[in-house]
Amino acid sequence: MIDPAPRTIATAVHLPQQATSARGRRLDPRALDSGSFVEAMRDHGTSRPAGLAAYRAWYRDHDPRPLEAIGVSTEPRGEIVRTEIEGLTVKFALRLDDGLESESVVIPMRKRSGGFSRTLCVSSQVGCAMGCRFCETAQMGLLRSLATEEIVEQWRFARFILPRTPEEIAAGGPATGHEIRNIVFMGMGEPMENLDAVLPAVRVLCDRNGPGLAASRIAISTVGRVEGIRRLGAFIQEPGYRGLGLAISVNAPNDAVRDEIMPINRAEPIDALFEAIRAFPKRPSAALCIEYVLIPGVNDRLEHCDELCGRLRGLKCSLNVIPYNPRRDSPWPAPEESTVEAFIGRAIANGQFVKRRGTKGRDVMGACGQLGNPEIRRAGRRGTGV
Ligand code: SAH
Repeated sequence: MIDPAPRTIATAVHLPQQATSARGRRLDPRALDSGSFVEAMRDHGTSRPAGLAAYRAWYRDHDPRPLEAIGVSTEPRGEIVRTEIEGLTVKFALRLDDGLESESVVIPMRKRSGGFSRTLCVSSQVGCAMGCRFCETAQMGLLRSLATEEIVEQWRFARFILPRTPEEIAAGGPATGHEIRNIVFMGMGEPMENLDAVLPAVRVLCDRNGPGLAASRIAISTVGRVEGIRRLGAFIQEPGYRGLGLAISVNAPNDAVRDEIMPINRAEPIDALFEAIRAFPKRPSAALCIEYVLIPGVNDRLEHCDELCGRLRGLKCSLNVIPYNPRRDSPWPAPEESTVEAFIGRAIANGQFVKRRGTKGRDVMGACGQLGNPEIRRAGRRGTGV
């Protein structure tokens, strides 16, 4: 359509038509890996090399111009509405098109060689339907699942747009953007309830012309949806994804304890879960992580530890012990240091490889299980009748 009153000749001449898919939706490079993007752009008369170069420039150099020149909008899918910093941990909330917010956390991880690298914790949903009693996000209920582009956008914001901490800026270098080494799907939501968006997001994040992360640098954490674990198992058979990490929030040694804290367990008991875990066709070197949130008086006894280690025998995995981070209005306190150490010591004595997860971001409610905005939660409840 011709603009009835072009402001300048230049915009009238150069403004390309917006690229759309066959179904009339705007083409979004955040939702497509480079191969699919380039194919789709060929229908709009963009050559393969030009499409690929534009995709790469945006993801690699944060340069939107080549994409804009071929009619692809690079407008951000969200706006940073809050950042909270604790040390080098940065939690940020993106307000999405419909006013809901996703939350992500950039976490420094110490490297064995000294120094540190950054892990980005992304959300796959706003809120969560799983109802785990210890988790802040569960208190929101599920407001909605995120689209592929909204998941990838969390990486793009962290990588290029998110301000760096004041100390880092003082030490020199750019004012925004964080080098991201690993991505974990451990923010808000249950990834297995949204695999149709999560798997394409993994494709984009691993794309060599895009963010270019190795699959082994990405881990998906789940409450343990058996069907989801099977689907993920099929996905990782594809070349390039074999190293994808899987983390399972086991959190209990048996059905009695798990039923009490994770409603999913009543539908999918712990034996069925372990059957699915054992059948998962991971590469021998790929990470399988068993997460265990240690909650005082619930699952922290040494007998619990022994029973859990019995279940893990023969499974090549690391046991990640996560000291409980109290959610708002928590019925439980954080565990005593001595309890955490005793539990970990016992697991080691049982021959289990153990890691302890730090509690970074606790003060900004950015640690594991603390994501969730109580205002959105109230608004969402009114709006959806949850
Ligand atoms: N739904 C997914 C991913 C989100 S939770 C899952 O359940 O795995 C990410 C991790 O944080 C899970 O291992 C979960 O058990 C843990 N977690 C949840 N609430 C927590 C809390 N209050 N303190 C410590 N860890 C918590």
